[in-house]
Amino acid sequence: MKTRTLAIIKPDAVASGHTGKIISRITNEGFSILGSKQIKMNLSQAEGFYDIHRGKPFFEELTQFMSSGSCIVLALEKENAVKEWRNVIGATNPDEADEGTIRKLYAKDLGQNAVHGSDSAENGQKEIAYFFAEFELILN
Ligand code: ADP
Ligand code: MG
Repeated sequence: MKTRTLAIIKPDAVASGHTGKIISRITNEGFSILGSKQIKMNLSQAEGFYDIHRGKPFFEELTQFMSSGSCIVLALEKENAVKEWRNVIGATNPDEADEGTIRKLYAKDLGQNAVHGSDSAENGQKEIAYFFAEFELILN
């Protein structure tokens, strides 16, 4: 069954000019892009998105970083999209990410790790709804 995941190209990767290569990779890996846009979150919008991590030691660093510059948010669809996208992006810590994964290729460090992926189909739907109105999701 086709499912959806949110992807974010994080501020480090956008600022470093990796956006085009990452979007090419997304299409080459067979994902359909249902919606995409450039955004810049304020701190409270980043805190809302990462609410699940509130209270963790890295929460402030993470939300400051995610609101520090432009991101590209993308709603992706594919068979088993959550797992497939997480395979493409690699482990959270780029030092532990497999060769060829986006984080291995482009991440700066554990915090500034180039891309986001949802962790379940249910959270994928919720995260897509955080950034996209229904009419912004185009099924070709
Ligand atoms: P993932 O993005 O792989 O799902 P998590 O959901 O665990 O990883 O964490 C969300 C994001 O928070 C990570 O992608 C990373 O940017 C940041 N992060 C996670 N753990 C740490 C940490 N120990 N120190 C700094 N930043 C972290
Ligand atoms: Mg996560």
